[in-house]
Amino acid sequence: MTSTETPSVPIQRTRSFQLRVFGCQMNVYDGELMQASLEGRGWKSTENTDEASVFLFHTCSVREQAEERVHGLLGELRRVKKADPSVVIGVIGCMADREGQELFDREPHVDIVCGSRHFPKIADLIDQVVGGEKRVCVLGEAESRVDQEERDLTGRVEDYQAHVAVMRGCDMNCTYCIVPSVRGRVESRSPESIVNEIRRLSEMGVTEVHLLGQTIDSYGRDLPRDDRPDLAGLLDALEDIDGLKRIRLVTLHPSYVDQRLADAMARSTKFMRFLPIPIQSGSDPVLRNMKRGYTVELYRKRVAILMKAMPDLELISDWIVGFPGETDEDFTGSEEAMKEFGFLQSYVFQYSPRPGTTAFDLEDDVPKKLKSRRNHRLLELQREIAQQRTLTQVGKSSRILLERLSDRFPGNWLGRTRNGHYALLPEEPGYHAGLEVPVDLVSYNGRSLVAERHADFQMPEPVVVPEAEAPVIRVTEPVPGFDV
Ligand code: SF4
Repeated sequence: MTSTETPSVPIQRTRSFQLRVFGCQMNVYDGELMQASLEGRGWKSTENTDEASVFLFHTCSVREQAEERVHGLLGELRRVKKADPSVVIGVIGCMADREGQELFDREPHVDIVCGSRHFPKIADLIDQVVGGEKRVCVLGEAESRVDQEERDLTGRVEDYQAHVAVMRGCDMNCTYCIVPSVRGRVESRSPESIVNEIRRLSEMGVTEVHLLGQTIDSYGRDLPRDDRPDLAGLLDALEDIDGLKRIRLVTLHPSYVDQRLADAMARSTKFMRFLPIPIQSGSDPVLRNMKRGYTVELYRKRVAILMKAMPDLELISDWIVGFPGETDEDFTGSEEAMKEFGFLQSYVFQYSPRPGTTAFDLEDDVPKKLKSRRNHRLLELQREIAQQRTLTQVGKSSRILLERLSDRFPGNWLGRTRNGHYALLPEEPGYHAGLEVPVDLVSYNGRSLVAERHADFQMPEPVVVPEAEAPVIRVTEPVPGFDV
């Protein structure tokens, strides 16, 4: 049968859905919320395209490729929709916000276009389409807050690790970024609701949470002045949750870092000293054109506050190379900054103009080949720096949180130290993902540290891990952080 022919035997579709998630951790989190809400209405997740009656794409607009990938997958569904018009197809998130109604023109078989602030009502939107409504489109500000006071946790994928959104949106206006226009202004959750959610997660066996926000260090600034919460207070409040071992923060903006926050991070026994604080460029003129709101000197001062409070802190950065007007000298500034701040990890992106951003109107004047050369150069430099930093860990005592069995080094668990270094630990009965083990870091094998367990560590009883169910949310081409 060719792809254009209709199958002769009618396919039996069930009350089931396929959800594909693109982009950042926030999208993954939202995917879990949608999963829970759909399952709560009796929908079942399926990997089987022939079985699903609803196809949902939770999308990302940061880069063109991610959007084109969704258009490609939508194209494949044209045949499915033609064979069975009752199938419901929905595009949710940033791409829905960015393309809006026009998405229906390019993809006439799509039924739902649902903006980032409206995904909580996706089950209702599906009902509307099933009930006969055509082309349901909800965009812009929502009439109610995105996050409920109490989150339904049934849609979670991981067992020991969980994402928790503490805020939505972004109030900055970086010229290359689509986020503010698609995700709207900052909307912080109440600290009570966040702490309650994490307490419940911890009771379910979660030992590591990733607190999510586009500029997480601005948490609370949108809330009323009296008794306004902040990230420092939130970290303190989470200290009381016994089973919780690690808190990761994703992502900081240098402008909001202050002494109070650095002190709270330093006194927290759970805060992971592995912090994304993207610099984007090491050149002041480029930072100005990006409207990042800081200079290299200000970035330096903010990092100094953090490093003074936590000398073992490791930093992560995002970089954009080839931003309009970036000269050789500007790029040298980025190389110098990478060396100076000694990031443990970097994500490097070649600039590409995105419609809907301010920078879209600037001339994209750095040739493709040069962007690519700069990209490779920064990645190469980052590799060298990471290796040097990792070597300084050899000989230290640490605690690693086990993540998974290593594929590359069978018979070993792969875990992370509190400041983000990967370490291998020989397998022993009783180990499981999410367990924290005190170790000595004895050597470095060129890829990871090699650890030995402290002899006095009380080994836990072996746990029987139930066989994993089929993955319920497919994450496609994840974007590492938020700050792009
Ligand atoms: S790059 Fe980050 S801080 Fe800047 S507008 Fe985008 S999300 Fe906000």
